Amino acid sequence: MSFALYRPRTFEEAFDLLDREAERPVLPLAGGTDLLLAMEFGRQNPSGLLSLSRLPLDTLEVLPDEIVVGATLPLRTLERRPEVEARLPGLLEAVREVGSVQLRHRATMGGNLVRAAPASDLLPPLLSLSARVVLRSREGRRELPVEQFLRASWTTELRRGEILEAVRIPAPRAGAYRWQRVRPANAISQVGVAVALHPSSSGSPWRVAAGGTEPTASRLVRTEAELPAVDPSEAEIEAACARAAEEASFRADLRAGEDYRRHLLKVLLRRTVEATRERSRRLPLERP
Ligand SMILES: Cc1cc2nc3c(=O)[nH]c(=O)nc-3n(C[C@H](O)[C@H](O)[C@H](O)COP(=O)(O)OP(=O)(O)OC[C@H]3O[C@@H](n4cnc5c(N)ncnc54)[C@H](O)[C@@H]3O)c2cc1C
Repeated sequence: MSFALYRPRTFEEAFDLLDREAERPVLPLAGGTDLLLAMEFGRQNPSGLLSLSRLPLDTLEVLPDEIVVGATLPLRTLERRPEVEARLPGLLEAVREVGSVQLRHRATMGGNLVRAAPASDLLPPLLSLSARVVLRSREGRRELPVEQFLRASWTTELRRGEILEAVRIPAPRAGAYRWQRVRPANAISQVGVAVALHPSSSGSPWRVAAGGTEPTASRLVRTEAELPAVDPSEAEIEAACARAAEEASFRADLRAGEDYRRHLLKVLLRRTVEATRERSRRLPLERP
């Protein structure tokens, strides 16, 4: 396999390379933990790799209402920032589950989102947090909720010539992520569930999302409706778990059968709601 490696220093240069009309595309390269394997196994065959390493995309901006994660910030750097621990505990729980420490020194949130694996550990928390992606091209920037960005497994709304620049993540009151996999590290989650508490939103203050579902990681809106209050009752949690098992679609694969995944979803949803409720109770009341 032969390909060129480009390392542009400016976005203009990068867009020139991405816009090239060729039979085989030029693909952005972030950490390479997915793309290089995909090339080795013949699932991708680009004419060139456009390294993002010299572009100013490895940033982290902490604003009053949100945290903006640059697309190429290594996950390992992200998980060590105290602001992430304090304000995005559910996301942090998920980031720490990606692969291994070695892998996270290279892997990025941008790569995880564009890859759009159905069992990604980052998609459920980002969905529950109502995160938005910022996509940049020669024409300018556009922003999409993660929910719209994900079209299906392995497919997103990213257009040719676009680079995912950053992810805007509103800080919730509290949140949590729980998952199940066959071994603790370097394994793919069978099911992952994230919830976040946004008391100021209209309707249910809860956002619920699951990974390992079909056709891709998804938000469970009907499940959220079973959780009408910040402090749900036992009966409401039970109803939400039953609704989630009905609302989510699963299929069997080599990691788990459909019924087992449905069972996991119920168990993990209960655990995320209880953990989030506990976190919320420990915070001062005035925090949004
Ligand atoms: C051993 C192993 C264990 C793993 N474990 C987990 C796990 O537990 N949980 C999990 O969720 N994932 C896991 N993964 C999958 C993968 O490592 C992650 O999804 C990672 O976050 C991908 O990021 P990356 O920067 O390496 O992406 P890359 O491999 O660089 O890129 C992936 C895709 O995204 C595109 N891309 C990357 N960045 C951009 C950008 N800014 N703009 C436009 N396109 C872009 C690339 O062209 C490519 O198509 C694992 C992988 C391996 C090899």
